[in-house]
Amino acid sequence: MVEVNGSYDGMSGRRALVTGAAGGIGGAIVEVLSASGVAVAAVDRDVDGPADEGRWFGKVVAHRADVSDPDQVEEVVDAVERDLGPIDYLVNCAGILRPGEVLGMSDEDWLDTIRVNATGVFLVSRAVVRRMVPRRSGAVVTIGSNAAGTARVNMAAYAASKAAVTAFTRCLGLEVARYGIRCNVVAPGSTDTPMVTALWTGGDAERVSIDGSLESFRTGIPLGRLARPADVANAVHFLLSDQAAHVTMHDLTVDGGAALGH
Ligand code: NAP
Repeated sequence: MVEVNGSYDGMSGRRALVTGAAGGIGGAIVEVLSASGVAVAAVDRDVDGPADEGRWFGKVVAHRADVSDPDQVEEVVDAVERDLGPIDYLVNCAGILRPGEVLGMSDEDWLDTIRVNATGVFLVSRAVVRRMVPRRSGAVVTIGSNAAGTARVNMAAYAASKAAVTAFTRCLGLEVARYGIRCNVVAPGSTDTPMVTALWTGGDAERVSIDGSLESFRTGIPLGRLARPADVANAVHFLLSDQAAHVTMHDLTVDGGAALGH
């Protein structure tokens, strides 16, 4: 169970679609929203319908879909609106990381990264926000990364994809502000999830992340620990809530200071 920092007025009874819901950060977002009384559609290519719903408390329905497939995206958004009702909140959290230096990077790693992390956010946002516009309400949060604004060794494709979705989400927020729809970005730094721990191949990799490394030009994490998925989920929770009613096109970094405030 994640640490939920309270609830926000007006969220209970609303409906959310969260992509990447089977992952570390996505799973925490589902828990936080569900604990606030939000009915959640948990979308991931790694969920398998009702069998997966038991892992969450509250009203959660699981839908398997690949966010980079336009047909699957339309089908799943239709199914969620039919079964759960109009979507009030969208969280774009599905993502992949294929680390590697540019000079050795395969076409496939570049294209897959852009397809999932950037095209996936476009497809899901377009499908959901089109349905929000006639209702003249809704809130979107895209999970970006502090790598979108700070160069990182071995992360060019990933950083480029996150810079793309950060700009995309801001532009979308500008286009739909007239309908009262808000679009924001949460940009995590190193967070304790399978995406990061899968890269730990020995030694004290967590310590290196925290302390920084001159060799890879990383400054470390001033707050002295990796983010927990709940740290990111709590920021998403606030930005979706009516307490953030006048916040749009914002990029909120949650990285313990790793990007030194950028
Ligand atoms: P994670 O545990 O690997 O979760 C990502 C989830 O997204 C996985 O369940 C993954 O399924 C799913 N997914 C990937 N491609 C998909 C697709 N095409 N369609 C549907 N689902 C798909 O990683 P995480 O750390 O929670 O990451 C969540 C988000 O935070 C990502 O956007 C990531 O880039 C971002 N982020 C993470 C960190 C970090 O340090 N962890 C830092 C900054 C930003 P598979 O397991 O099958 O791939």
